Amino acid sequence: MLNIDLHCHSNVSDGVLPPADVVARAAANGVHALALTDHDDVSGLAAAQLAAGEAGLALIPGVEISVSWGGQTVHIVGLRIDPLNPELAAGLHGIRLGRIERAHRMSEDLARSGISGAYEGAHGYAANKQMVGRTHFARWLVAQGHAPDMRSAFRRYLTRGNPGYVDHEWASLENAVRWIRASGGTAVVAHPGRYAFNARELHLLLDAFRALGGEGIEVITGSHHPSEYGKFADLARAFGLKASRGADFHAPGEGVDIGRLPALPHYCKPVWQGWPELELQYSVSMT
Ligand code: AMP
Ligand code: MN
Ligand code: MN
Ligand code: MN
Repeated sequence: MLNIDLHCHSNVSDGVLPPADVVARAAANGVHALALTDHDDVSGLAAAQLAAGEAGLALIPGVEISVSWGGQTVHIVGLRIDPLNPELAAGLHGIRLGRIERAHRMSEDLARSGISGAYEGAHGYAANKQMVGRTHFARWLVAQGHAPDMRSAFRRYLTRGNPGYVDHEWASLENAVRWIRASGGTAVVAHPGRYAFNARELHLLLDAFRALGGEGIEVITGSHHPSEYGKFADLARAFGLKASRGADFHAPGEGVDIGRLPALPHYCKPVWQGWPELELQYSVSMT
């Protein structure tokens, strides 16, 4: 069986390892094909591609785009994108500008709760200064003793109703899918189990996504409890979406490690079916 992991982060977004180290870790974990899917940025893909050549695994160029839909933040993963596509690059650049402005507002909100210096603190945890996110704030809050661990940091701060949370307008679903498709990629709804939608809202999202040309949905992800796999596999089938699998790895010791996930249920249609990169992996692993 091929071990395919199509969702992970490097320190180009809110992961802690540089892109080449993420690829080396994937290879060590027995992954045959890996998509690096940093939030709203593709600048880690060149280094990842080089490292993948050395490690002998297939690197699928990816990205995870932040979207506002139905009053919530939804993440759309793009797979087999062209990172040099100007339309995609311009769209992602716009999101990163918005992130910096949001980070200042988050910091001001924390200051109103008596926690000052958060922007500078979070900034210090971001290797890529264009990509300051809630994870960087959470790492700083933990280091400052405001929370014992990342989970608690997100429970006490940075989430709706808590200090450090501010509303923000990300890309539209329409634009995110359009940029991915314009760059030759396949759009996938990330971790559908994480959104605070009821069944009707989730169905509306999937209908809208399909109508825009979206093709896939994550079924096996580090963000889903194993008891949810069947539900999302059924949903994929019901909506005619292909199934994806990815750990959403961010850091060693945090969440699920790269490639360490169950296989897709047998009745799912894998999003990677027919990808030429994987046929090469097949012939290599068969000989
Ligand atoms: P942002 O895109 O800046 O809003 O940050 C979103 C990121 O925060 C996600 O991709 C996760 O890496 C992280 N995150 C969100 N909620 C949690 C949570 N409850 N525990 C740990 N990490 C979280
Ligand atoms: Mn993240
Ligand atoms: Mn996500
Ligand atoms: Mn992710």
